[in-house]
Amino acid sequence: MKCKTCGKEFKGVLLEYYGDWECSDCNKEDVIHSEEGTKIFLETFSAGSSYEQLVATNHLSFFKEYTVDKIEVGSWHTDVWLKEIPEISFNSVFFVRA
Ligand SMILES: [Zn+2]
Repeated sequence: MKCKTCGKEFKGVLLEYYGDWECSDCNKEDVIHSEEGTKIFLETFSAGSSYEQLVATNHLSFFKEYTVDKIEVGSWHTDVWLKEIPEISFNSVFFVRA
C-alpha cells in the first residue's frame, strides 16, 4: 500500500481499516503513523488496559529509544512491535514519536 499524500510505499505497516493513512514522513507527530525504522519513546504507563500495562511495565523503560519493527493500525486500536523486543506487541498509546 502507498501513502495517498506522497506516494511512498509503506514499510512494516498493516492497515486493518479502510481509510486514508499517511506515511511516517507525511505525519511526524503521531505514533500511529510510524513505520518500520521509526524511532519512538515510552511516554506513559497510564494508558491501555491493565493487561497491556502489565506487559508494558515488564518490558519497557523511559528514556530509551525504541525502533518500530511493524505496526498494525486498527480503527480504534493500534499495536506496535519493536525491533528491541521481538515477538511482543504493545498498545501504541504508551509511546510518543522521538
Ligand atoms: Zn507520505
